[in-house]
Amino acid sequence: MSPRMEHDAGPTSRLAAGLFLPAAAHRAGDGHALLAPVLVLNASYEPINVCAARRALVLVLKGVAMTEEENGHFLHSARVAMRVPSVIRLLEYRRIPHQSRALSRKNILLRDRNTCQYCATVLPSSELTLDHVIPRSRGGSSTWENLVACCHSCNRRKGNQTPIEAGMKLMREPRAFNLHTSRHIMRLMGRSDDKWRKYLFY
Ligand SMILES: [Zn+2]
Repeated sequence: MSPRMEHDAGPTSRLAAGLFLPAAAHRAGDGHALLAPVLVLNASYEPINVCAARRALVLVLKGVAMTEEENGHFLHSARVAMRVPSVIRLLEYRRIPHQSRALSRKNILLRDRNTCQYCATVLPSSELTLDHVIPRSRGGSSTWENLVACCHSCNRRKGNQTPIEAGMKLMREPRAFNLHTSRHIMRLMGRSDDKWRKYLFY
């Protein structure tokens, strides 16, 4: 799924969200079901993304995707109960560009798995910042290769220095977040969902 598509919340999706969310809010457990991760397959069955169940249901309701596997939960609205998908497949093949992820704070934290790249501490997103490896004041650019997840303490310690000057070492060389990285993360997540396995470990 392209980032464009991920951020698209057209009239139909707003309608779908409106249809299901108020009813869901009345039932304990449904809110959690809406956040459950769903594996997104291309029309060719190639895994391309992971999204929240709520987003997956919107894609199914819009007729963009179909449910391949269910997670066993139902989502209730006033009139209907919908089976919550665990795996969906796009009905039309989408060409996924080699580097399909947008450069964003969220995606950099995802790439670095919420781990400070200097001290290896895993923290919630709110407690991480982005560090320019070569500081901006020294000509460092805002690119995949120069931005890493960093805790506030390491960020303060590093200040306007390069890692070498600060005597700090990066856990690994920062790279663009490409499809390979996404698949790796999907595999890690898929370990908790047996229904994903046959699509991820082929
Ligand atoms: Zn740190």
